[in-house]
Amino acid sequence: MAHVASGDLFRENVSKGTPLGKLAKSYMDKGELVPDDVTVQMVMDRITRPDCERGVVFDGFPRTVAQAQALDAALAQAGKKIGMVVLVDVKDETLVRRLSARWICPNDGVVYNTLTNPPRVPGRCDKDNGELYQREDDKPETVRRRLQVYHTQTKPLIDYYRAAGLLREVNGEQDIDQVQADLVKQVEQL
Ligand code: AMP
Repeated sequence: MAHVASGDLFRENVSKGTPLGKLAKSYMDKGELVPDDVTVQMVMDRITRPDCERGVVFDGFPRTVAQAQALDAALAQAGKKIGMVVLVDVKDETLVRRLSARWICPNDGVVYNTLTNPPRVPGRCDKDNGELYQREDDKPETVRRRLQVYHTQTKPLIDYYRAAGLLREVNGEQDIDQVQADLVKQVEQL
């Protein structure tokens, strides 16, 4: 299945300097959500590409009930539907700690964490020796704003998908291997 992460799509647009990227950046820098219409349009365009024919794992999308409704409508029109929604449940304080320790390789997108998954050489990617960077919006004050936005705008999706019988839950407080094992267990039930 194709991995479609709305945040990655926005970051691609930001680095290419497209009009969408410029608009998105003004929201992303503050930890706010990009407006629903722009986000939905971008994701819908992305899933028309051939790599999405066998299925898609959405990451960071939908983030509002309006986005979820737009996704449901678009999928219904295409004769498709959501198989399952996985909530990886992590406490706010754990997220602040993890995100401040997150480092990413600009070349291949590999994600490291200085606390839980450090690179062999500090600041360098294990695979291609690329110089790792930290996301601008992983600064603690922006993370806190992103969490506030999550609690008001995204959390209602838990009830939305629970009511639809699609919600599965994984305890994201566990270590990486256990979270992965639990995720695989859920996905195998698809
Ligand atoms: P992420 O990489 O998923 O943490 O997203 C980074 C930022 O991109 C978010 O803080 C938002 O500003 C924006 N973004 C990503 N996905 C969405 C979405 N589904 N709806 C609105 N904004 C989004």
